[in-house]
Parts: sequence; C-alpha cells; structure tokens
Amino acid sequence: MKIKTNKLMSSILVFVLAVTVLAFSGCVEEDENKVIIGTSADFPPFEYMDDDGNIIGFDIDMTKGILEDLGYTVEVKDITFDSLIPSLQTGKIDVIAAAMTITADREEQVDFTDPYYEADQSILVVEGSNIDLENTIDLQNYTVGAQTGTTGAAWVEENLVGNGTMSAQNFSRYDTYTLAVLDLINENIEAVVLDKPVAEAFAANKEVEIIETIITGESYGLAVQEGNTDLLEELNQGLSDLIGTEEWNTLVETYF
Ligand code: GLN
Repeated sequence: MKIKTNKLMSSILVFVLAVTVLAFSGCVEEDENKVIIGTSADFPPFEYMDDDGNIIGFDIDMTKGILEDLGYTVEVKDITFDSLIPSLQTGKIDVIAAAMTITADREEQVDFTDPYYEADQSILVVEGSNIDLENTIDLQNYTVGAQTGTTGAAWVEENLVGNGTMSAQNFSRYDTYTLAVLDLINENIEAVVLDKPVAEAFAANKEVEIIETIITGESYGLAVQEGNTDLLEELNQGLSDLIGTEEWNTLVETYF
C-alpha cells in the first residue's frame, strides 16, 4: 500500500511539473516590456546607418525616446520598406517608424498615430543633368526609379505609367532608396522620385540635385498593429508631449 501511494504521489508530481513547464515555456521568450521598432534604414535623415552600422535618424531618436520614457526596452530592426506592414501584421515588429505616409490604403491594414511630419515628393537628378521638364508629367519621357511600395513609386505608377505614355520598362523599382540613388549616380536611370526632405539629404552629400517639387501634401505617422490601442494611445500622448518642446527642436536641429 505504501509503495502504491508513493507511486501515485510521484506520478502526480511529474504531472504537476510537466504542466508547470508547459505553462511557463510560452512566456520565457516574451518580454512584456520590450518594443521592437521596424524601419527601412535607407531614408536619411529619418532613418539610416551611421559609419558603425547603428541605425539612427530623426524617426529612430524620436520613437525610441518616447518608448524609453514610457519604460520600454527598445530594439530596432532594419527591414525593406514593402515588408514593414506584413512584419507588423505578423507580430515580428511592434511599431513602424519609417517616414511612412498615412494613406487610406495603409489605414486599412495598420493603425497610425497622429501625424508628426509633413512632406511632398520631388524629382532628383544628377548634378548638371540636361533633363528638361515643363511640368512634372514630362518625366514620362525619361527613365525613373523609386523604392518599391512607397508613395513615390505610387506617384510614378499613377501619373506616368498609368495616365501618361511612359513605358513600364522605363520605371525601375528598388528595395531601398540608397540603391535607387546609386543607380542614378551611375547613370543607369535619369531621375528618382522620392520624399523631398530625403532628396535634400541626398543632395547635401552626393552629386545630385532636386529639379522639381511634386506637391502631394503627405503626413508621416508611426504605425501599430490594428487594434493595439494601448500602444497607439501611449505613442500619441508621447508625440503630443514632445512636439514643439525644446527636445523636439534639438531633434530637428540635429537631423535637418
Ligand atoms: N513617405 C513615403 C511612403 O510612405 C516613403 C517612405 C520610405 O521610403 N521610407 O511611402
């Protein structure tokens, strides 16, 4: 009888242990306090790599600052721009900070914070290029590049390829704007369409110049998974507490 009881007791113990291990194994990896920011680090001054390979920039400092003040630990992941929304939807990242324009299409897939920056598109060419445009639509006569999935690429698709006479072959899509600008400098394409503040940053460092502004009136927002209202509210509060302060001005002066 005694032996039987011991056997029973040890079976119960094994069972309890197994349940305990199972219950905790799901939690081991999860750090409640960690937030992963996803970005596409090819978009200076908003997000780019410094010489040591660290991801820095206006968006990164801003978003990290807000999250760290809230007590979160933050990790930044570099992902191609058109994979950012799928990565957010599948939970690989928690926040997109990538100079992402708030658009109706994207609003159906993610939740955006209040806007934190306004921008238009622009046309970037090599310095001294003889591209001659009476208006922006004349760009249809040239070879053009943009980053896949961006509002710059959408502008080319809608206005030059869709509504103009530009052959689809004359439009090259790139994983990153860094590659598009490299192809521009190597004269494989004649123009790049991209957000104006970023075109200005490229023009300040490379032999390229802006020849035209395309007024699109875009607003950038941070994005979270649909329905993640807690994080959305925290970010909105953080943004409204930050914008217009001394800290905000320092951020602007550092990067623009
Ligand atoms: N603002 C543009 C967009 O949202 C470009 C963003 C980017 O390339 N990082 O599509």
